[in-house]
Amino acid sequence: MSNQLLDTFRELSNLPTTSFYEQKILEYIKTKLDSYKIEFHQDSWGNIFAEVNGKTPNEIVFISHTDHPGFEIISKHKKNIYLAKALGGLPKNCVTNQTNVKIISNKSDLYKGKIINFYSKENKKPKIPKNYRWMTSEFVLIESESENIKLPSFAVFDLPETKYFGERIVTPVADDLAGCALIIETLNKLNKSSNEYSFKAIFSRAEEVGLIGARLIAANELISKNSIIISIETSSELPGANFGKGPIIRTGDRLTTFDNKAELVLLQSVKEILRRDVNFAYQRQLMSEGGCEASAFAVFGYSVTGLALPLRNWHNGNEQGDVEPEEISLLDYENAYKIMTNLGKLDIVKIKDYFKNLMMIPEDAKKLINEE
Ligand SMILES: [Zn+2]
Repeated sequence: MSNQLLDTFRELSNLPTTSFYEQKILEYIKTKLDSYKIEFHQDSWGNIFAEVNGKTPNEIVFISHTDHPGFEIISKHKKNIYLAKALGGLPKNCVTNQTNVKIISNKSDLYKGKIINFYSKENKKPKIPKNYRWMTSEFVLIESESENIKLPSFAVFDLPETKYFGERIVTPVADDLAGCALIIETLNKLNKSSNEYSFKAIFSRAEEVGLIGARLIAANELISKNSIIISIETSSELPGANFGKGPIIRTGDRLTTFDNKAELVLLQSVKEILRRDVNFAYQRQLMSEGGCEASAFAVFGYSVTGLALPLRNWHNGNEQGDVEPEEISLLDYENAYKIMTNLGKLDIVKIKDYFKNLMMIPEDAKKLINEE
């Protein structure tokens, strides 16, 4: 496996990002696409669209998102203490543990800080189910080393840089920079081969606060309604969707059930890989913990499917709600790349070909004829 595949993820995942503050990721992606000579453009909301034309107009669209949960600094509370808004689901104990954060201002000014308290005007405790591991307060107070942080600025957990421990990739952000890295490297490979399918990629914005970039694209039909949409995501490990047992062909998410017609392209890709490698590891499951961008397209009538990497410490939270780095498996990551790049070798997949055997009535059916 090329180091490039790992390097791209490592470089991306060490850049700070959160919803609406995704500039560093967008810049990285654009620079990388340029260097790979892949055509791209940005829409008026900043979502990036890249494309690799194939021999036919049949189109497969990969989608990933460029943000990750974090905090938006709203205002100065007093002296070196700032009021910050939570963007996306964050582990609740970041407050009690006074977790360290990095504050990024003016694009690259960097300050250290720590979360010191919840902040709510009413000071009312919301009703929370037992064992709920997410923060329920919308605002926190962050103490910084500086009294002069310029707004706009944002904060992310101050976690160690991405490291590889054997089969484990331990990282500040797998969700969804692993998806972004997989798509960039897949396009680079597909761009060098001759493909039946045409491929597009979307790097969408502000997913963690309600799939915003994806909903804008789907609602405005910036992608053809005939396209097959494949969400490339990480998703919290589940029974039957285990870490290190292969990427998951995602049959649905928390919001919707996906589409058989779309899924067939992934199944066909896996089927062909299995012919060469009977031990190729993959899984198939409905990943119900989180919603993903496929759902934003599904509700507008698109044909959608997904590929998910089993994720540990989803949104940097462990089971108890303490802050930890996210984790994905090297094998899951590399096998997702294999499934994605192998799509370039496929003929156009048709339901009647894929399910030819299932559609044929077997000889044994004769035995069912009532002979009385
Ligand atoms: Zn995600």
